[in-house]
Amino acid sequence: MSLRSRLILTHVSVILLTLVIIGVSLVYILRDYQRQIQLARLGDAVVPLSFQARAMLLNDVAPREILNRLETEAGGVGHVMLITEKGLVLADAANGLTNRTVRLNRQIPEKDFFWGQHILKVNNTERVLLYVGIAAGKASGQTVYVALSAVERPILSALEDILPSLLVAGGITLFLSLIAALLLARSIAKPLTRLAQATEAVARGQYDHRVSGTGGDEIGRLAASFNAMAERVQRSRQMEKDFVANVSHELKTPLTSIQGFSQAILDGAVQDFSHVRRAAQTIFEETARMARLVGDLLVLARFESGEMPLAMETLDLNQLLPHWIECLQPRAKSQGETLITVMDPLLPIAGDAGRLEQVVINLVENAIKYNRPGGTVTVTAKAPAVESATKSSVLARRRAAQVLGTRWVTIAVTDTGAGIPKEDLPRVFERFYRGDKARVAGGTGLGLSIAHEIVAAHGGKIIVESEIGRGSTFTVQLPVK
Ligand code: ADP
Repeated sequence: MSLRSRLILTHVSVILLTLVIIGVSLVYILRDYQRQIQLARLGDAVVPLSFQARAMLLNDVAPREILNRLETEAGGVGHVMLITEKGLVLADAANGLTNRTVRLNRQIPEKDFFWGQHILKVNNTERVLLYVGIAAGKASGQTVYVALSAVERPILSALEDILPSLLVAGGITLFLSLIAALLLARSIAKPLTRLAQATEAVARGQYDHRVSGTGGDEIGRLAASFNAMAERVQRSRQMEKDFVANVSHELKTPLTSIQGFSQAILDGAVQDFSHVRRAAQTIFEETARMARLVGDLLVLARFESGEMPLAMETLDLNQLLPHWIECLQPRAKSQGETLITVMDPLLPIAGDAGRLEQVVINLVENAIKYNRPGGTVTVTAKAPAVESATKSSVLARRRAAQVLGTRWVTIAVTDTGAGIPKEDLPRVFERFYRGDKARVAGGTGLGLSIAHEIVAAHGGKIIVESEIGRGSTFTVQLPVK
């Protein structure tokens, strides 16, 4: 059954149930009301009868005789009964209760009155006999009451009275509620149907499918979440496609070159030793490039699947950082560049020394590679709040860090190169992103992606700032242990 039908059915069932409950309560309320009216009518009619009965009792008229005379006076209101104060029926005109005992319920404040009810069996069905009495005098030392009785109208007859109006009211309510249910079901089912269609479309591979007209309610929020999810799926599908295309492209270039040179050697096209050597050298370099690329891809894949183990040790960057940078001095010199290190005393951090070295080397290598000839590369390490702890122990430095609230160790690598265009800045950490110059420089475009993953795995962040013509600064922030 569709959601729409279920909603309508539920709505209508609730309304029907409510109508039935109202109907049944009405019947009972009506019965009480009817009983009160009937008792009041009996009470009004019995008062004049009591005066006549009093006169007859004073004249010692027999109860049966009193009954006969009063019954004609009672008219159609009810039948006369004579009852003693103990409830013994002395005479009863219609219901065969003579010599039987009935209950007398006093009515306060008119305490001369009483009323009662008695269950009668008429043609095997039970009927309630209502009676109202009033003291009329004494006979054989007992107070004698004259009472008028009438059979209470059965409960179903009350229902019969209200049934037509109940049906009309019920019909109108049901009709209105049906319209409300239809509108409600439509307002819920329609966006859900649209969502279901959109989900099916995305499942079929139409990743650009979106749900329109999202409101602020639960369904609107669901649609907004769906759109956000579809967007991410689309983006990640696109990234996957780009990734496969990039990997194939990156592998194809060295493979073509390796195949070409080895083919040339096999065919004897290159014969003299120096040419063979050059071909072998190219094959060697291209193989190394491929190995580097495959290695980088493996590292990225392992970071992505969360399977990259990091040896989280306490690291003292005051010793490690100068050592890492010193190893890059020959490279800077060979490019005619100056590599400078400016270091504050740093707090210890928790990390994997090998991986962090990879990050620093990648940033400094890039800074050298994309610098202007004869430019400067400056590595600045900062932990602003630790100056007072310079000469103290590691423990004292940690305490100082807690007191002073230092959270981050900052390592910035600044070059004086051409800079990165503003529109390319958000893309430098993307896989395989390479600037125009880099294509000539022959990088893989994976270095910064890996650096980003490593820093993120350490709970840190890496940001880039750049100004065209003046240079770029890559800043790594790592949390203090
Ligand atoms: P690769 O250097 O192997 O190409 P990276 O991921 O290390 O790959 O860098 C991605 C791109 O970011 C580079 O191709 C280059 O265009 C740009 N880039 C990185 N560092 C710098 C820098 N210091 N100055 C200018 N551009 C840079």
